[in-house]
Amino acid sequence: MYAYTDHSHVSCITPYRYKRVSCTWYSPVPPWGQAGKLGRGGGGEGRHEALEAIAVTKLWSVARSAASCSSTSTASRALATTAHQPFDSVDAALRCAAAAMGLLTWLGFRRRNQFESLTLLDHMLSSPLTYLVDRFYHLVLVLRGSPFYPPRGKAAIRVVCIADTHDQLVSVPVGDVLIHAGDLTTDGSAADVQRQLDWLKSLPHPVKIVVAGNHDSYFDARSRSADDVRTAAKLDLDGLLYLEGELTVQEVKGRQLAIFGAPDIPECGPENFAFQYTPAKQPWLSKVPPRTDILVTHGPPKHHRDLGIGCPHLLREVWRVKPRLHVFGHTHWAYGKESVYFDGMQVAYERLLSRPRRGLLWDLVPNESWLDMAQVLLHGVHSVLWKWLMGGPGSNQGSLMVNAAQMHKNSGTVRSRAVVVDM
Ligand SMILES: [Zn+2]
Ligand SMILES: [Zn+2]
Repeated sequence: MYAYTDHSHVSCITPYRYKRVSCTWYSPVPPWGQAGKLGRGGGGEGRHEALEAIAVTKLWSVARSAASCSSTSTASRALATTAHQPFDSVDAALRCAAAAMGLLTWLGFRRRNQFESLTLLDHMLSSPLTYLVDRFYHLVLVLRGSPFYPPRGKAAIRVVCIADTHDQLVSVPVGDVLIHAGDLTTDGSAADVQRQLDWLKSLPHPVKIVVAGNHDSYFDARSRSADDVRTAAKLDLDGLLYLEGELTVQEVKGRQLAIFGAPDIPECGPENFAFQYTPAKQPWLSKVPPRTDILVTHGPPKHHRDLGIGCPHLLREVWRVKPRLHVFGHTHWAYGKESVYFDGMQVAYERLLSRPRRGLLWDLVPNESWLDMAQVLLHGVHSVLWKWLMGGPGSNQGSLMVNAAQMHKNSGTVRSRAVVVDM
């Protein structure tokens, strides 16, 4: 456990100083995820980065052995012993590498923390082949076209998706269903939440769905502020459908639409964050009803518009239910849409992303990741040929995942547009 401070104003995850909890269980496990333990006691990022640099110079196994050390000198000693090199030279190299990595981060060539997108250099140091396959995977998704279309002969239902407005108002297009996937506020007081709710109520959409985010502390009795408890503050939710692990079936344009919403999110911050769960108590097992058309959660599933911090248990549940539309937010930097087809290509892609990254050079040595990559390539080419050349069933059999975070990265301003889906 180590203190983590992020002064960004509206980070979904880190607006306060807090003790970092065991979040790595749902993160991909890069080889240097373990090396990060070196960071305890301050200045850790530099040593962590130094170990990454060492990976590039083929000292992966050596660095791994040093990963459990608690200081630079201990790490240097372990490295020196394993590599049969003088302590001073290893220690100096480690510090130089740390300084170089720090400089690259300062210059913007590397991301500052795990809540930002990976830079090109990050990808190259982590696993360039995985990066290329990831680009290929998303190209195939584009070539496969829209994952679904509104049913023929029936009026399309327009679903407007937003999330992470963090006390701000955004321009919302007209539609039949409006979904807010959480983080209405930043501080989560009843007064702040009510202001956002009143704004949502004023919008013309016939059906309005609201799910709480980790910042909306009022909704979770465990995270509610002392002031709100003392004053017994209440919310007026009239005209909105607030979902907390519930299913609602709405009739829209003569069609039934089953919408399930749940705010639960993997542990990611202080105690005044709402609806956090630990791996042991993750709530997703068989939680989502099988007939769900639209799933609304605050957090993303693993591997899809999640910056690597999505929940694997939620992903498993999504695989089981296969909702046509999954709306979420939370990872501001991962805003956007992504088709999913629950097929062999997606299986291989998710398995590839869940493997440890091997680093720039070791990536080129044959390993099990290559099999996943080959499967992604084969399934990808096959799916595109099937759609465009062989007149196959096309792309009307997929689902759509939407990260609707309105907050632009951690800029403090809402610049992303509402995501509109016709179904
Ligand atoms: Zn947020
Ligand atoms: Zn959030």
